[in-house]
Amino acid sequence: MPRGVIPRQPARTGRQDKVRAARVGAPAKSAARQAARDVRPGTQARKESKKSAPSPKPVAAKTKSYNPVAPERVAEILKRLNDLYPDVTCALTHASAWELLVATILSAQSTDVNVNRVTPELFRKYPTVEAFAALTPEELEPDVRSTGFFRNKSKSVVGAAKKIVAEFGGQVPDDIEKLLMLPGVARKTANVVLGTWFKKAEGVVVDTHVHRISRRLELTKENDPQKIEQDLMKIIPRERWILFSHQIIWHGRKLCIARKPKCAECALENICHAADKTWSTVEMHKGAE
Ligand code: SF4
Repeated sequence: MPRGVIPRQPARTGRQDKVRAARVGAPAKSAARQAARDVRPGTQARKESKKSAPSPKPVAAKTKSYNPVAPERVAEILKRLNDLYPDVTCALTHASAWELLVATILSAQSTDVNVNRVTPELFRKYPTVEAFAALTPEELEPDVRSTGFFRNKSKSVVGAAKKIVAEFGGQVPDDIEKLLMLPGVARKTANVVLGTWFKKAEGVVVDTHVHRISRRLELTKENDPQKIEQDLMKIIPRERWILFSHQIIWHGRKLCIARKPKCAECALENICHAADKTWSTVEMHKGAE
């Protein structure tokens, strides 16, 4: 046998090539280290599993196929809301556009129940818009104190009354631009009055319930009420704007409450992916809250 040729011998590790390299070519120590590395438990398995592991599924493809504002999904949400809340309307007690305007101003940062406790006596004491216009904000404060933020609310109500008497002949205008000129009236209040009293769909009411639930249902990613309203106006048919707001507000009071929504009782459960659901049969989506 020629010198320097070592017959091939099975190595105990089963890695003959490495052993050969260690013997014929590479410096003994580094080859041994390499061989030792190779026989560490799990090393080869890890390498192989890396090689043979199926490539991850394209996440983008999955998320791309799910469109939370697809017309069919929105239609299904609207249908289920109709089944749940067929005949709902505004929960604020009122008998005129003016009373609804006052009640809506008072409802900011308060509950409808709280406002409904205050308004019957308030409208008995001051039965017309002119009676409110004759007040100073300070005179009205004690009557609306229990609704919270009473100083600002008194200023808004008296200011709105004075402007309605002075500029609109004592009639609450049925025009959004004019309503927005009144003190204390932003889009939410204007939309409540226009939708509920005048049956005019000029926008979607975005209160705290509509804000929260629209995000949970992934109908918007926005946080600003005006941007949420714009998103909702794009995906909800105009003829449903008024009812949709009422239904979502009722849903927010009854089931989809801010903390611990009652998902196990909710008819929207299997099409809702909210991240803060309390019970779920479907995947929950980060950011849907
Ligand atoms: S499933 Fe839960 S989070 Fe989703 S809409 Fe219903 S109550 Fe709200």
